[in-house]
Amino acid sequence: MSVHREQAIEMILNRKEKDIQYSKAQNEQVSDIFGEYVFDDDAMLQYMSEDAFYKVKNVIKNKNKLNRDLADQVASAMKSWAMDKGATHYAHWFQPLTGKTAEKHDSFFTLDRQGKAIDDFGGSELAQQEPDGSSFPGGGLRSTFEARGYTAWDPSSSAFIMEVGNGKTLCIPTIFVTYSGDALDYKLPLLKSEKYLESAAVAVARYFYDDVQAINVTLGWEQEYFLIDEAFYTARPDLVMTGRTLIGKHSNKGQQLDDHYFGSIPERVYKYMLDLETECHKLGIPIRTRHNEVGPGQYELAPMFEEVNRAIDHNQLLMDMMERVAKRHHLRVLLHEKPFEGVNGSGKHNNWSISTDTGVNLLSPGQHPGKNLRFLCFFVNTIAALHEFSDILRASVASASNDHRLGANEAPPAIISTFIGTALTDVLDKIENGEESQEDIQEVLDLLENIPDLELDNTDRNRTSPFAFTGNKFEFRMPGSTINSSAAMTALNTMMGWQLRKFINDVQALKDKGDAPQMAIYKTLKEYIVQSKAIRFEGDNYSDEWVKEAESRGLHNYRTTPEALQAYAEDKAMELFTSSGVFTERELAAHYEVMQENYILKIDIESRTLEELCLNYVLPAAVKFQNELAENVIGLKDAGFKKKDLNYQMEFIERIQDAISKMHELGKKMTKERQEAHEKEGATDQALHYAMKVTPLMDELRIHADELELLVSDEYWTLPKYREMMFIR
Ligand code: ADP
Ligand code: MG
Repeated sequence: MSVHREQAIEMILNRKEKDIQYSKAQNEQVSDIFGEYVFDDDAMLQYMSEDAFYKVKNVIKNKNKLNRDLADQVASAMKSWAMDKGATHYAHWFQPLTGKTAEKHDSFFTLDRQGKAIDDFGGSELAQQEPDGSSFPGGGLRSTFEARGYTAWDPSSSAFIMEVGNGKTLCIPTIFVTYSGDALDYKLPLLKSEKYLESAAVAVARYFYDDVQAINVTLGWEQEYFLIDEAFYTARPDLVMTGRTLIGKHSNKGQQLDDHYFGSIPERVYKYMLDLETECHKLGIPIRTRHNEVGPGQYELAPMFEEVNRAIDHNQLLMDMMERVAKRHHLRVLLHEKPFEGVNGSGKHNNWSISTDTGVNLLSPGQHPGKNLRFLCFFVNTIAALHEFSDILRASVASASNDHRLGANEAPPAIISTFIGTALTDVLDKIENGEESQEDIQEVLDLLENIPDLELDNTDRNRTSPFAFTGNKFEFRMPGSTINSSAAMTALNTMMGWQLRKFINDVQALKDKGDAPQMAIYKTLKEYIVQSKAIRFEGDNYSDEWVKEAESRGLHNYRTTPEALQAYAEDKAMELFTSSGVFTERELAAHYEVMQENYILKIDIESRTLEELCLNYVLPAAVKFQNELAENVIGLKDAGFKKKDLNYQMEFIERIQDAISKMHELGKKMTKERQEAHEKEGATDQALHYAMKVTPLMDELRIHADELELLVSDEYWTLPKYREMMFIR
């Protein structure tokens, strides 16, 4: 029998502090432990020759391939380092399209020809491994006769040691491809997109600085999450199966008092955070920020920003650590975008920028006005790219779980627009209106001088915008809390790479006609400012007026995943991704297919779980209570009461009966719609059927289940209630 509500509460109230093991030692400073489990520069220098070290660094910097000899040297150093730290196994660590991470462990230990035990790990084991690909989503990329998948080392992200219990494993970040080299993961397209953006961004940066050789895309994510006690978690089959509550009457006290946001962190949660941070710091994840979020039981943590590939590896690793550490504290972390209806959902804001190898943030307005034309180049081109490809960016964050956030009366809407603040709007308006002389570039520069020092000024903020400029970076707020940010970052990098190439051509065309370089840049930017105006919105993104206005501006508003994803299936996406080399036609089609299939599977599981909850929990409780009322009616009649005196009993018997009948009908309809969905041809139509026909029935069923929760005696209700899950810890 599963744990029921009452037992869960009892378990929680009896939890003992001594049952929790901490990884943080008293008085330990972050600087003492930071990167302890990372094969970083220090470790490399200690375990390999200086000559080999610099060769490796060069390969990483130039994004080249490592030769075999060097790979052997790295492998040998990595093995010695890891074994000195107590690791016994190694694993290629990769990011399949499930959104989670995957790893296949092999021991260093092996037997030599004489049957003697030795520890072995060479360049070939480092460079490549062959996990069975057939158990990962591939969208038709693997034919059945070629199920193999290959993982290959990504030297640009550091190897690390994963400690689970007493076991330690050397983890090597890798890409994951098919036999013919098609990407089966998130990492390979991301790396390609970065390279594609880099070549254009370097060329544009060189308009202003001769010495720029390379750029880094930077990402600083913010991770939101809920925490609940594990006893509640295990008592809710919906949380276990789907990560969210499929039913549950809203708690009378939710977030309306605004008393949780930035409030004092509950002690139990604080301990969890400290423990988690310690684990992260050992792994070189530079966590800095922690605070309560808006929803009761909701929190956030954020690191310092890093190069995008590293940042995403770290975020994926973090999500894994969050779950592991939570278990040590008898807690469960809910990463789902909407675990509870009626309170805020969780996102993963992606703060994105581009910086040069010489240390310039290309989206920083900076202190020196003469350099601000550089800022305007990158700033305006980002807006233009967003305008051109907003549907592709929208598709990149589409998922069944994120549908509960985007467009569902909370941050942010499903409509993409950008907020840039009054000061910068003013600057763009002035350029657009040509208020300053168009012919005199000096005046342009004077105008730019008036840009306030935005890095210091964070007051001008709009929390409702899906894509907000926040001082020296864009904050993309649509990615959901469970998401692997790679899809969004791949889309953004590719869009920007495409846009900057167009920019370079347009500027060149004007120069060819005789314009001075700065004037050519200025004129091109002016044109983009005008063309992309529709994507700029400074108002309240949650308002109904915006939905109408956005429509009249021609901006799209895809509320469901199957609709949003279709942008990936259009010629425009094909052209963008294939011309940039980020995806081949086959890969893009396969990724599209996988995303639609993920949606189908998620909704199918949810719908079936909901059905079970209704049949096994809600309806039995309702019938039991209804029986009690009916017996009471009979008894009272025997005692001489008239039916008209039994208002409460009669009304409740009827209301319960009404809800029961409706649930019965809706349940049957839902099963039928699921069957119909299965009969559709192809993933797109199936997914659309789930979105349009199955999910509305789930919402309707929930209304009646929640009504029964209100009507039925507390004694018979075995599922933990919202108020308990959110407030008892
Ligand atoms: P808020 O919650 O107000 O949006 P936070 O301080 O929580 O702000 O998060 C800001 C995030 O932006 C951090 O993760 C930080 O590392 C990141 N960030 C700052 N500068 C850059 C940059 N140049 N590129 C990418 N991310 C950045
Ligand atoms: Mg933020």
